[in-house]
This record gives sequence, C-alpha cells and structure tokens, in this order.
Amino acid sequence: MQSQSGMVEYDCFIGANMELKSCPFCGSENVGKSIHKIHTSDDTQHITYLSGWVGCYECSAGTTIRKYEEVDYRVLENELIESWNRRA
Ligand SMILES: [Zn+2]
Repeated sequence: MQSQSGMVEYDCFIGANMELKSCPFCGSENVGKSIHKIHTSDDTQHITYLSGWVGCYECSAGTTIRKYEEVDYRVLENELIESWNRRA
C-alpha cells in the first residue's frame, strides 16, 4: 500500500494551434495550450483533475482552467480555446 503524491502527465497539446487567435496583448502568434491530468493523493483521498492552460509564450499572458469533475479532455480543450479567443 503506497501513499504518495504524484503528478501524471496525461496529454499535452502544444503545436496544433490553428484554432487559437494571436495574442491580444502583444500580437504574437506564438500561442499554445496544454492539458495535463493531475493525480494527487494522501492518506484519506485521491483527487484526479484536468488542468488546462492556454496562453502566449512571448508575454506569458494566459488562463488556467481546472476540471474536478469527470470530463473528456476535449471539453476542457474547447473551453480553453473559447476563453482565449474571446479575449483576442
Ligand atoms: Zn502575448
């Protein structure tokens, strides 16, 4: 019986950014998104959640969205894209 905290990289979407608009702050097209599935645990509970980030690599403007309920990562991906493009 192990009890340890850890992070597991679930998936990473960096590169396919055709759907992301250029940065509304600095105008750079060097923008991207990534989604990770995070597992944390202690003696009493295990928590798994999705953590997604979308933003600009040039000026570091960005948004993080986390999902603690069971959702497909594509749902989170779409939310990231919409949230970014609303600002652009
Ligand atoms: Zn920027």
